[in-house]
Amino acid sequence: MGIPAHREAELLAQVPTGLLIDGEWRDAAGGATFDVEDPSTGKVLLSIADASTEDGALAMDAAAAAQESWARTAPRERGEILRRAFELVTERAEDFALLMTLEMGKPLAESRGEVTYGAEFLRWFSEEAVRVSGRYSTSPDGKSRLLVTKKPVGPCLLITPWNFPLAMATRKIAPAVAAGCTMVLKPAKLTPLTSQLFAAVMMEAGLPAGVLNVVSTTLAGDVTGPILKDPRLRKVSFTGSTAVGQGLIRDAAHNVLRTSMELGGNAPFLVFADAHLDKAVDGAMAAKLRNMGEACTAANRFIVQDTVADEFAERFAARVGAMTTGRGTEDETKVGPLIDAKSRDKVHSLVTDALDGGARALVGGAPEEGPGYFYQPTVLKDVAPDARILKEEIFGPVAPIVTFSTEDEAVALANNTEFGLVSYVFTSDLNRGLRIGEKLESGMLGLNAGVVSNAAAPFGGVKQSGLGREGGAEGIEEYLYTQYTGIADPYAG
Ligand code: NAP
Repeated sequence: MGIPAHREAELLAQVPTGLLIDGEWRDAAGGATFDVEDPSTGKVLLSIADASTEDGALAMDAAAAAQESWARTAPRERGEILRRAFELVTERAEDFALLMTLEMGKPLAESRGEVTYGAEFLRWFSEEAVRVSGRYSTSPDGKSRLLVTKKPVGPCLLITPWNFPLAMATRKIAPAVAAGCTMVLKPAKLTPLTSQLFAAVMMEAGLPAGVLNVVSTTLAGDVTGPILKDPRLRKVSFTGSTAVGQGLIRDAAHNVLRTSMELGGNAPFLVFADAHLDKAVDGAMAAKLRNMGEACTAANRFIVQDTVADEFAERFAARVGAMTTGRGTEDETKVGPLIDAKSRDKVHSLVTDALDGGARALVGGAPEEGPGYFYQPTVLKDVAPDARILKEEIFGPVAPIVTFSTEDEAVALANNTEFGLVSYVFTSDLNRGLRIGEKLESGMLGLNAGVVSNAAAPFGGVKQSGLGREGGAEGIEEYLYTQYTGIADPYAG
């Protein structure tokens, strides 16, 4: 049993195929289009408009024109739009889930989880919209008053990746809407359909024309480059690879833009001998196999105390080996395809390098026959310290295990990376967990937890994993700037 073909066709027919500019769905200049594929079959799902530099400029014009009036709307009104969008996405949860599974490949159950998570940003920021405040105080010498207020930063460029097509969009759009910013969204070319449908929902929820403009394109740099140089742009928020993020930070220097960067990860997953091993394995399954391992928060290195390493590896490998790969629309599928052939080949080159260096595959270790870009869920033991797989982001269902003997050694191994997004620590000793947490260089920590993402929490990294935070009370601050007004002493006459 799976999803009937006619249901897929009916859903795809509802996805807008144009560019959203100034409240209208338009063809690209010159009529260019591009195909979006299903990574589990390689077949084309839909062709949509392919934005050019000229279309990007029109989107920027629309965002700039709408900014002043949008910033003046009542916070409650902006909150109500987000709340309606939350209701609409929730009503259409099955549509969004199926669309993500079709264009990205993840199993339907995981897509449903992403709809819940992604929609939560709409609800959270609908509540935050009315909580922006400032302060009024007396200067230390008593001779003046200090008024501090928050204002929307202005038009934003939002660039999203393919791995969480809905949540990465709502995590940026919802705080921007709440703060009173207008925006140009450039979704990933591999998974633009979810953003296209979500933009239609935002319009249905009452978002005024020009506030959200969507330019799906195969020409990322050609479209975003001139927008970044436009003096009317005030901010760029990016989620994606560190290499592309570094280039955008360089480009953002031109107009000294505010930047939010959610970049790559290389998460360590520490298991101490005193950990509850079944819970550690449950956590490892979630931290590794969720989204086929294609998550910036995916555990990239399993660092396990030597006295329990064999037992942990055996139990983990048994669970991983039982995971069924397949098309995400099939009921029995637990692990979908990787996003494309390039990603699958990269995963395999990391595994091959580790095996050549002396690692053993307890399960998996190879790509699967096509069609689609499937890779066997894999656990590697005895991985050499200099293996590439311990240094690079795997972005696939592969778990390399290394061992440690002392707490200091565990921390040194965990911090031995230029990334710092999230770390996971499994121990039954809470003091140890907190102590290790203080020593780990990462923006987030999962303590006996394999998943940390939560709309109410500040998501983000340190080191080369990024700048800024998304979600939580911090999320809206990224779209606000502080204005201070110095007021003369009201008693001075
Ligand atoms: P990517 O190649 O960096 O692409 C991300 C986005 O940037 C896409 O929309 C892409 O467009 C666009 N892009 C690429 N080159 C560009 C350029 N020169 N100028 C402007 N935009 C450009 O990353 P990805 O492969 O889609 O996503 C995987 C990466 O995202 C991983 O490293 C993962 O860790 C990271 N990620 C981080 C977080 C986080 O919150 N920290 C969350 C999710 C993912 P195209 O689609 O046209 O290439």
